[in-house]
Amino acid sequence: MPFSFDNTYARLPEAFFARVNPTPVREPRWIALNRDLADRLGIDSATLDSDEGLAYLAGNANPAGAEPIAMAYSGHQFGGFSPRLGDGRAILLGEVVDDAGVRHDIQLKGAGPTPFSRRGDGRSALGPVLREYLVSEAMAALGVPTTRALAAVWSGDTVFREAVEPGGVFTRVARSHLRIGTVEYFSSRGEIEHLASLVRYAVARHYPESADAPNLAVALLEGVVERQAALVARWLGLGFIHGVMNTDNMSLSGETIDYGPCAFMDDYHPARKFSFIDEQGRYAYANQPAIAHWNLTRLAEALLPLLAEDEEEATDVAGEVLRRYPSLFQAAWGEVFSAKLGLNALRDRDDVKLVHELLDLMTEQETDFTLTFRRLTQTVVGDGEAGFLSLFSDPEPVRRWLGLWQARAERDGGSTEARQERMRLANPIFIPRNHRIEAAIQAGRRGDFEPFHQLHRVLARPCEEQPEAVEYEQPPLPHEEVKVTFCGT
Ligand code: AMP
Ligand code: MG
Repeated sequence: MPFSFDNTYARLPEAFFARVNPTPVREPRWIALNRDLADRLGIDSATLDSDEGLAYLAGNANPAGAEPIAMAYSGHQFGGFSPRLGDGRAILLGEVVDDAGVRHDIQLKGAGPTPFSRRGDGRSALGPVLREYLVSEAMAALGVPTTRALAAVWSGDTVFREAVEPGGVFTRVARSHLRIGTVEYFSSRGEIEHLASLVRYAVARHYPESADAPNLAVALLEGVVERQAALVARWLGLGFIHGVMNTDNMSLSGETIDYGPCAFMDDYHPARKFSFIDEQGRYAYANQPAIAHWNLTRLAEALLPLLAEDEEEATDVAGEVLRRYPSLFQAAWGEVFSAKLGLNALRDRDDVKLVHELLDLMTEQETDFTLTFRRLTQTVVGDGEAGFLSLFSDPEPVRRWLGLWQARAERDGGSTEARQERMRLANPIFIPRNHRIEAAIQAGRRGDFEPFHQLHRVLARPCEEQPEAVEYEQPPLPHEEVKVTFCGT
């Protein structure tokens, strides 16, 4: 029995989910099993790493204690409200509690149709499975709150998308799969009792420190506002673009969830987007903080019936909490970018301006986001300055900026070694570059998973020099560049 399930969501009223078994796949084969993660979750990885375990994670058999369900939720997608989305291609097997007492969902993605599938097939193509595995594990290694990858399985079936593709099943681990859209679901249906149950459940699971708060809905809103502000700041610090920040893809726990058409930027541009379906650039890099605020406003609206006794007062409470978001985000962003520049903090407007001046130079001269900060780190001790300047076609204004930055950094005091160490940890060497992911997916489609495993190994130590893997540091060559990514569907 690999999983010691301890399920709570399946104990909630039936309105919260639909009971549904995974649909078996034809000929499952392992692609990857994350044994380190399994061990940390108290899952018996030795038992899981077997034909029996494969059958569980392919959806061909239910492990003991599983209570498979598809969760109900709504969502604002690209600004428009869809009252009934729900898990159309995901099935929650159950929950496990790790040694630290933290509860985790074990969910199969691509395990067949559910009552929420609408016209979809409930399946995943191999590409999105490999992408989510690589990117979510890279995020975890970078210390960003995220769902995790427990396994990837080759299904032996084909799925029909833009083309015929091999299918896969992905096992996702999450603090929970509660989203802003889950709150919107009960609120939009006027099911206030269920809404209140959901709030109690979410606070107990994700904000237990607020269990005794006078109003749980207010505590939940405050908690989610704080964590989302911090999360988006972390994304910006890595050049990450989520791609589909719909309210159904924003977790109440504050983890990054739903790696669809996401990507890390190569050349920096604030308006960069990758998602094929995001024609307007709604979810472009620099829009993400404002979109998170917009999503949180939808959360506040959905919680209104519980925020206070009368409507006017509830609106005031919501407004008051939401107004804190910009300064929370600014503070989180300041923390992230001060670390990237090796400063103790961004202390005033001039410090903020210093960051923006560098970002502007990077935009104008189209430098690689990750490489720029890595080379900047190398200027602190030793002779990295030429390497940094060589990234820029017009080095003169950059040299001026370097002078300003060095003078500012010195005012913080401390040793240059300590500063460089701080920067090293804030400026990864290895990120999941899109062209590398694409190459891993292409090889995977042919049944060759070595590029996938190799990339995964490199990304597990993003801030460490790996001389044997220097080519993974490099931005794509012009012909390797990936301009758009497709949705996971
Ligand atoms: P996503 O864009 O992945 O966040 O999904 C948005 C909604 O579409 C969710 O309700 C998904 O469950 C549903 N969905 C996406 N792909 C499929 C599919 N292949 N089959 C059924 N439902 C899907
Ligand atoms: Mg989703």
